[in-house]
Amino acid sequence: MSKDCLFCRIAAREIPSEIVFENERIIAFRDINPAAPVHILVIPKEHIESVAHLEAEHEALMGEIVISIQKLAAQEKLDEGFRIVVNTGREGGQTISHLHFHLLGGRNLQWPPG
Ligand code: 5GP
Ligand code: ZN
Repeated sequence: MSKDCLFCRIAAREIPSEIVFENERIIAFRDINPAAPVHILVIPKEHIESVAHLEAEHEALMGEIVISIQKLAAQEKLDEGFRIVVNTGREGGQTISHLHFHLLGGRNLQWPPG
């Protein structure tokens, strides 16, 4: 865990958040500034900066995160569809340097993004 990292501190429950799922490796919580009726952030507990920093050893963890998002989407009744977004790096719009998957749904999402 990184002491300077907001999402590590959320995972350690040092900073409160509305947690919707947790296991040994993953935690999911609602975004503080939702961009859609359902907006959940799913993160590995391990401090990995971004997709650009993934290693081969993270392969199973990434699969587990996507399957956990599928379950969360069902739990949130996003039967009409949803979107998974992983902003990566400065030009990719990443503002927090701890890998996070956005689960967005509950309205018609536009494409392409800005
Ligand atoms: P990014 O722009 O890096 O892809 O996404 C960061 C997300 O984290 C944003 O959607 C932002 O609203 C959310 N966020 C920032 N600070 C906090 C916080 O303290 N708590 C929660 N729950 N979400 C946060
Ligand atoms: Zn972190």
